Amino acid sequence: MHSELEQLLVLQDRQQKIRQIENEIRTVPLQRKNLESQLAASAAALESLKQRARQAEVDRKNLELDVGTRQQSIARLRTQQYETRKNDEFQAIGHEIERYEKEITAIEDQELELMDQADKLKAEVAAEEKKATTAKESISRQLKDLDEKAKTLATRLEALKKERGTLADSIDEDLLDRFDRLFASKGDAAVVALEHDVCTGCHMKVTTATAMQVRVGKEIVSCEQCGRILYNGS
Ligand SMILES: [Zn+2]
Repeated sequence: MHSELEQLLVLQDRQQKIRQIENEIRTVPLQRKNLESQLAASAAALESLKQRARQAEVDRKNLELDVGTRQQSIARLRTQQYETRKNDEFQAIGHEIERYEKEITAIEDQELELMDQADKLKAEVAAEEKKATTAKESISRQLKDLDEKAKTLATRLEALKKERGTLADSIDEDLLDRFDRLFASKGDAAVVALEHDVCTGCHMKVTTATAMQVRVGKEIVSCEQCGRILYNGS
């Protein structure tokens, strides 16, 4: 094979690797963002459960206060009842006391329900805490791996770019320019094989004369259809 073609193929290989690594590097911030939002979601789920548990406790304390004020009312009423001389007033106060006592019973039922709920929430918080800790550990590890990967990719990219620079220095400037423009515009490859007279870049058959030139391999030949540089692949 034409030595310049061989150099171009090596150059192309490095440039393809550079492009691949650059693409990988571009996905790193998104991967990091995804992991960070997983972490935030896990923390938010835990916080929301804790908030519910705190609210249940606040509600229960309020009910306790409600019971307390009613008990005070009852005590006050009992004193009034004790002091009254009127029978109808005595009875009216007795009814009021009864009403407060019924309310207290109802509130205490609610309190029991809330305590039951609080117990369940406590268990849920404990489970969620365990889950959140596991998630945090796993995500921290993944973030660390991602940082390592980013570093490795950056090092590899730097080495490849250096190698690419050295290779490019030994290639004829016009040919390098031609290669660079093709590589940038084609998106895949600038130098492709000609197999059974078909360009493997655009999959079109080249003319017999072109195929012949490629087989002889004395000069740099381009596909008439797509412009890619051809080398003899069959
Ligand atoms: Zn072609």
